[in-house]
Amino acid sequence: MVASEYDAVIVGAGGDGPVAAWKLAEAGLSVLVLEAGPFHGNEKWPKPHEDPGGEASSSIEDLSGELLDEQFTTREFEMVNKLIFGPADHERGFYFRKFPGDGAILQCSGVGGTTLHYTGNHPRAYPASIDEQGHWPIDYADLVPYYQEIEEMCEVAPAPVTAKEELFFRGAAAAGWDLLDELNVTEPGYRPQPNAIRQPDEKLHVDADYDGDFQYPEVEGDTLALGNIAGNPHPRGAPFEEKAKRASNISFVPPALKTGNVTIRPNAFVTDIHTDTWFGDDPSATGVEFRDTWSGDKEDVEAEVVVLAAGAIETPRLWKNADLPENDWVGSGMTIHFGDNVMGLFEGADLDGTLGTDTVDQFQGQDIAARFDYPGLGMLQTVGTTPGLGAILGFGASASGFTFQNDTSDAPWDTMGRLAGRELKETLAEYRRMLQILVVSDDRPHERNGVTVVPGVSDENGSIPLVNYVPSDGDKKRRDELAEIAAEILREAGASHVHRSDSPPTALHVQSTMRMGKVVDTACEAYDVDRLFVADHSALANSVGGVNPTNTGQALAARTAEKIVDRYF
Ligand SMILES: Cc1cc2nc3c(=O)[nH]c(=O)nc-3n(C[C@H](O)[C@H](O)[C@H](O)COP(=O)(O)OP(=O)(O)OC[C@H]3O[C@@H](n4cnc5c(N)ncnc54)[C@H](O)[C@@H]3O)c2cc1C
Repeated sequence: MVASEYDAVIVGAGGDGPVAAWKLAEAGLSVLVLEAGPFHGNEKWPKPHEDPGGEASSSIEDLSGELLDEQFTTREFEMVNKLIFGPADHERGFYFRKFPGDGAILQCSGVGGTTLHYTGNHPRAYPASIDEQGHWPIDYADLVPYYQEIEEMCEVAPAPVTAKEELFFRGAAAAGWDLLDELNVTEPGYRPQPNAIRQPDEKLHVDADYDGDFQYPEVEGDTLALGNIAGNPHPRGAPFEEKAKRASNISFVPPALKTGNVTIRPNAFVTDIHTDTWFGDDPSATGVEFRDTWSGDKEDVEAEVVVLAAGAIETPRLWKNADLPENDWVGSGMTIHFGDNVMGLFEGADLDGTLGTDTVDQFQGQDIAARFDYPGLGMLQTVGTTPGLGAILGFGASASGFTFQNDTSDAPWDTMGRLAGRELKETLAEYRRMLQILVVSDDRPHERNGVTVVPGVSDENGSIPLVNYVPSDGDKKRRDELAEIAAEILREAGASHVHRSDSPPTALHVQSTMRMGKVVDTACEAYDVDRLFVADHSALANSVGGVNPTNTGQALAARTAEKIVDRYF
């Protein structure tokens, strides 16, 4: 049992929940964080997927880097099973979510949420997406001090350059684009990613003969050994707080626990929100009901304020399952950064001429370390993965069928579609000479896109979210323009063959389903329910221009926490 009353209860310990917890606790509030998934790297749960372990954690002493090293490997597919959003018994697989077409929803679970899987890219929103698209009721300037706070906490710095980034930069420069050196991006151009990953240890650059095995304390910062999508336990042997990738479990959970005001209860799925209604007033949130994901037992907890941070799919689902007042925009307006993949294949001799080495070896360096920004359209970024994941992203799924079904004679790419059989095998044999570019478009919020629930289509936590996403003609056009720029950059970098995937919609960056100005006010308190706040990516009013959204989600969560204190404490 946890205590039955708190100042604030936070639903979800993902990218943004721990930020709100830390800020509220710093202000002296007692905070309970209820997280549906496990708590990795915590000694109270040495085997989080096999054994229920402890109940709650409120001490920094429980966190162990050594345990995290045992639980997190850099093997992508093994880690997927550990980080999935599913029942406590992961043998049962994912929670079922309905999504149209061949795409997927990438939801992750556990303390750290989807940032356990994320690649640490922390750019700011394009100012124009907040000030000029007409969706946001606050100004970009209002967010800047919070960006600065988050960037300091996450140690955001320009990513180091390895071969894949150098090749990309050469292509972008040759295509006539400028190098950007601004955090607030107003013009198109290319630059190293601002990443929430500690800088590489100097030895990796200075001493080419360094033959250590990347163990702490010999290597203190990033090891350039990839693995961010897999959770990233590097450098091995480092204490919990010293891991290179500053996911929210590393950057915000330890300072939150250090305040002594925060209790985190993992394996706790919130299924209802309690409210009180005084005659003539809006309902007011008074607490939540949650379900222990191991035992199935339900508990209630009371709080002065309830903060929803369950992510852009589960937050509206919870609102709907709790029968809170109807608002057409609850669950609507979802943006996912409608994306695509463009691959370039290079000849070894050409690479040797430009890079001085005949392979790109995209699995070296940080996973995603170079970017191209285009306010109004979205962004491009290089992707480094192992061949298995690269094959899925680049060649495994396509909205336009197999390559032989598509005539590309007038297109800027040589092939488009899905590869299979011998063609896939032969292409993958060249994987070390490929550069992959992820296209991420600035899709706009449309009322039809988002989350609904239907009574009766349910799992043990209530009606499941049915998710719809159909891009508009404008969304498709922006994605096409970006894919063309990606192809040009690859050609200018010397690619001999360019392949476009035409990927089906995949919910990689999910946001804007409880939009500020539609569902929540400028303090992120619900218009229709007092004392109920939203502090996750669902409160974003649009897709922040198509840039990676976590810096903005976290900045907004930090701001929301301050507004909560101002309003109610
Ligand atoms: C492979 C991958 C790479 C990515 N890379 C980047 C990147 O480099 N940069 C970037 O900006 N973004 C990236 N993203 C996206 C980013 O991780 C998310 O946008 C961000 O984590 C969202 O934060 P959130 O708090 O809204 O939701 P989440 O991080 O998803 O957190 C929600 C949490 O709530 C919990 N939860 C859900 N329902 C309940 C409930 N009812 N009760 C209790 N708990 C609940 C979940 O278990 C989860 O832990 C990436 C995503 C993926 C999948």
